[in-house]
Amino acid sequence: MVGRLIAIANQKGGVGKTTTAVNLAIGLAAHERRVLLVDLDPQGNATSGLVPGSRFAQLKNSQRTIYQSMVGHYVVEAVLTQVREAVYLTPAGPDLAAAEMELTTIGAREERLARILATVREDFDYILLDTPPSLGLLTLNALVAADSVIVPLRCEYFALEGLGSLLDMLRKVRCEFNHVLEVYGFALTMFDTRGRLSYQVAREVRDHFPNKVFQSVIPRNVAIPESSSHGLSVIEHDSGSAGAQAYREFAAEILSHSVSRGECASRQMALPNRQSWSLDVLLDSGKRNARRRSHSNRGMIRRPRN
Ligand code: ADP
Ligand code: MG
Repeated sequence: MVGRLIAIANQKGGVGKTTTAVNLAIGLAAHERRVLLVDLDPQGNATSGLVPGSRFAQLKNSQRTIYQSMVGHYVVEAVLTQVREAVYLTPAGPDLAAAEMELTTIGAREERLARILATVREDFDYILLDTPPSLGLLTLNALVAADSVIVPLRCEYFALEGLGSLLDMLRKVRCEFNHVLEVYGFALTMFDTRGRLSYQVAREVRDHFPNKVFQSVIPRNVAIPESSSHGLSVIEHDSGSAGAQAYREFAAEILSHSVSRGECASRQMALPNRQSWSLDVLLDSGKRNARRRSHSNRGMIRRPRN
């Protein structure tokens, strides 16, 4: 059984890629899956999101980063760090910024990551790739290596802006390097139940990509930035928070897809049958609220106070 390799990509920064990668890793591990998280962003946010500050400083300046493996100094096994019982990390540090340039002189530069990860695929159920906010060589390597891509979209104006370039890149990668690559799904993040904007954006995305939007929606939740400042997922930091609940549901949704595809079918699954952060439920309640608002408006117009 080889692990499923999932890239988490969107060339925009601040859309929830790293948060999704970190919480998905912990959420999948809670279901007894072995997970490797590959930090491909020179900022090292996935690394700092999983380890406390002192250890992060030590890791990012160590010689055991994903960069060292990508440019050929170490095999990938040598740069794995265990961060939880079933979660491993290949850390990133500022040295990775140089990789974009150095890789240009190395043969098969687009396939570097796919090649180095091939030796550890059988050791993990899932390998998650957290990509930087650009469509450069590091993201290209992630797409060439991956089986599928999760695209986080922040529920705000212009959520879909610029997505065309990522989809173009996916098409090119599929043609030239990786025929099996598919969009796993679009993950709606930072959903704000106050106001109408998030509802509108969610509806627009669902209309644009029918059947490709995950049911699990991630709410805007203050426990999430708090958790990363402690080097923890929100699931560990505040397990009762809305953010933790939503990411647990997201991990369960990914597992249920794997089961329906026949992967990992031998293991017992305990998936929630009711989701509280479900896209359909949110959009239905959004519609009801809008109707209620328009009824009460009508009432106000018909029966003005005098
Ligand atoms: P990216 O990796 O796409 O740049 P991040 O995952 O680093 O995005 O998120 C950007 C910032 O937004 C971080 O400070 C993170 O803690 C915060 N954030 C992410 N998701 C949420 C959320 N659902 N609610 C509140 N803050 C969030
Ligand atoms: Mg990031």
